[in-house]
Amino acid sequence: ELKAIATPKRTKEILNKYGFSFKKSLGQNFLVDVNILKNMMQVADITKDVNTIEIGPGIGALTEQLAIHSNQVMAFEIDQRLIPILEDTLAPYSNIQIVNKDILKADIKQLCSERFTDEREIKVVANLPYYITTPILMQLLMAKLPITSITVMIQREVAERMAAVRNTKEYGSLSIAIQYYTNASIGMIVPKTVFNPQPRVDSAVLHLSMREQPPVELNDEDFFFDLVQASFQQRRKTLRNNLIRHFTGILTKEEIEQGFELSEIDGTRRAESLSMEEFARLANHFYARTN
Ligand code: SAM
Repeated sequence: ELKAIATPKRTKEILNKYGFSFKKSLGQNFLVDVNILKNMMQVADITKDVNTIEIGPGIGALTEQLAIHSNQVMAFEIDQRLIPILEDTLAPYSNIQIVNKDILKADIKQLCSERFTDEREIKVVANLPYYITTPILMQLLMAKLPITSITVMIQREVAERMAAVRNTKEYGSLSIAIQYYTNASIGMIVPKTVFNPQPRVDSAVLHLSMREQPPVELNDEDFFFDLVQASFQQRRKTLRNNLIRHFTGILTKEEIEQGFELSEIDGTRRAESLSMEEFARLANHFYARTN
């Protein structure tokens, strides 16, 4: 049995061998606890029947577990210094392809069809670089990729906002954006002590399973997301006040009142109390008045 990469000792040995110095600007915090990684495999439900995509393999801690538990692994790493290290640490595995690219610039769809030559389900599993958590996730969700789920280690506070339900202080436009595309849940909370170097905040494993259909019918997606964002602009203000301010010059007060009436939503409510379905009704009626 091979010695796992994800231990404090082995990680130190690898870093020393290559004289590797962390780049804070790339969000380099490496996992040094193999049990956390095994739990991630369970949260993501990784089996030999799925292919996996990893973002930011680092020195290969998670990549190794994906190689063991899944069929084929494709891992995107931006830091060129890590490529020869990965070739060394992952040498025992023949089912890994490392792509030296910025995940935000890679044509993931194209690479999937090139590199995954079978019809297996594709899942994303990653310990994300925290400085670009939201851009990466939104890009993955909007790119209409052939993936069925995304399981990622991210900052705890961001995970809680993404998975939040209404009438909580974490619920906001980010919750709606993520949950429009996925069913979101938190798999586990992870203390900062299992990373080298330790980040400033605790982490969580967020599990997103892709929806096959959008949960609501929208006249215009951009208008919907724009209205949701405007509704939460000042959380303590009423919906009416936030929306009057946002739609100044676009909708009259009468049109706004009509929008509330037709969607049967009380303008004195706060955004925090609205379900996605209620936001959709409101957005569709408001949209109809802008044209
Ligand atoms: N997977 C490793 C682990 O769990 O120990 C490392 C995780 S570390 C939090 C994030 C990794 O993402 C680093 O290796 C970093 O170089 C890489 N990274 C940062 N920005 C990236 C980008 N735009 N595209 C691809 N990889 C990126």
